[in-house]
Amino acid sequence: MFRKTSSQSSIFEINKMFPKVLPKEDWCYIYRDKIYPLIDEDKFRHLFEEEGGAPNKSIKMVISILIFMGLEKFTWRGAEFQFGRRVDWWIATHTVMGEAQIDHTTLFKFYQRLEHDDTARNLFQELTVKFAEACGTSLKKQRTDSFFIHGWLKILSRYGLLQETIRVFLQSLRKQKPGLYDNIKQELSREYLEKEFDLTEKDREKAQRQIKLMAKDMHLLIKAFTDHHQVKHYRSFKTLITVFSQQCKVVEGKESEEAEIIIREKPEGKDIISSPHNTKVRYAKKRNRKVVGDRGFATETCDKSNKTQFITDTGLTPANAPDVKELPKIQNRLEESNMKPDTQYTDAGFVNGATILDSQENGISLEGPSSGRSQSFEAFNSEDRPLDIADFNFSIDENTKELVVDSCPDNQKPTDQSRNEKTGVILVHFDPLICSECSFKERCPAKIGKRVSTVTFNKASYTGAIRHHKYMGDKEYRKECGIRAGAEAMVSELVRAHGVRKSRHRVDSRTELQLIFAAIACNVKRFIRHGVKYGYLEPKLV
Ligand code: SF4
Repeated sequence: MFRKTSSQSSIFEINKMFPKVLPKEDWCYIYRDKIYPLIDEDKFRHLFEEEGGAPNKSIKMVISILIFMGLEKFTWRGAEFQFGRRVDWWIATHTVMGEAQIDHTTLFKFYQRLEHDDTARNLFQELTVKFAEACGTSLKKQRTDSFFIHGWLKILSRYGLLQETIRVFLQSLRKQKPGLYDNIKQELSREYLEKEFDLTEKDREKAQRQIKLMAKDMHLLIKAFTDHHQVKHYRSFKTLITVFSQQCKVVEGKESEEAEIIIREKPEGKDIISSPHNTKVRYAKKRNRKVVGDRGFATETCDKSNKTQFITDTGLTPANAPDVKELPKIQNRLEESNMKPDTQYTDAGFVNGATILDSQENGISLEGPSSGRSQSFEAFNSEDRPLDIADFNFSIDENTKELVVDSCPDNQKPTDQSRNEKTGVILVHFDPLICSECSFKERCPAKIGKRVSTVTFNKASYTGAIRHHKYMGDKEYRKECGIRAGAEAMVSELVRAHGVRKSRHRVDSRTELQLIFAAIACNVKRFIRHGVKYGYLEPKLV
């Protein structure tokens, strides 16, 4: 049942009974006076039944404890333990002496309520906007970075994946249909539900043999239960079918022969399953390091005139998702929360011609080196560097506002130029006789044919190439983009001080919440420090 926290303070609050229990400058007083009142409990009303059931614990208190957990990297049980002992937590949350108890399951259940919608994200955004106003922080310049969040799942080899997928299915079969399990287990090559099992097999040849046997077992299980009216609906059975089709191929034999199961060289399919425990989890590789889990994104303000920078956005995708795909979502979230920057600084992972143009349409100037190109100055300045479209001379047609190639790097004027309206691809033709004699012909992107030489590009590839030339050739611009490097310090702070490198959850939606609460905690910490050092600006926060 939803019930708001009473606005009346009690004479039994610890700081009223023992006014000198903590010095007046302690962080808990700033939290109590400036941040605690900003938590609007009505925004959480929809998470609870209006009537019936036990009244909820104070939402402001539970939210505050979740923030404190992010501040000091506590687990659920750790937070339960601390709340019964921490005077600063009691003062920060107006908790009355003798009522400082909260069960870890209450905390976790509240957290679970938050995972299905944007309530926690909205709280993060609202707090950030208020913090930025109170600290005079400009949102005009922001920087973004991404980082890996390790999942709790083990990295499974193909051997481990097949074994674990079969085991998970058999486990639910034994639980739901013990009779069916007893019948089928006789036909399998091994006892999968034995207690001691190993997910790795170091002997390569033995592992290959075992993989073939397990693939046969999977095929047998699929044939046995694919028409069973109940088992075919088990989630673990559907996972088994998908893993089998991604990892193996069935070649049907002639009538009397058995079907042959072939192990694919590489798994096939759109979303390759890496673990039966969470079919959405993905593996990624970075510098020979395998990562299983997610990729986190964080954006913060970065105007040099700001006394305090705040984290303005967080996001989460599977570990193997490219940064460029998340960029539009980051910008949308910033726009929706009224924190859209004028300029956004990122690394090469986010910047290409298309994202520069899309950002421009959103009213954001995206700055940073362009992706997919060597960032080596030696290579860029070398005499035999391959030329790109940015090495051609361009102008803008005054009537059509289209790009027009005036001349090539060898000063040859094009014979004609046309644009495909459907694809936006621009074709520029040159005289092949001149091209074949040209000293740049080995480096030039022009395709030299018998009748014509052709250069192909579009607006995005041109924009990306121009950005690359600007970044490699303009020292001042590189210096300006250097502001992005501060985003790495933000990531380091989130990782080291707020524990976001490792997910505490199996489900992505909860990992995302973990990241949001870590960002709130980081902002709360920065906000409190700002107040201690500089004080706050009017208007008042509440
Ligand atoms: S190959 Fe042709 S298009 Fe390329 S630089 Fe030489 S003359 Fe110009």
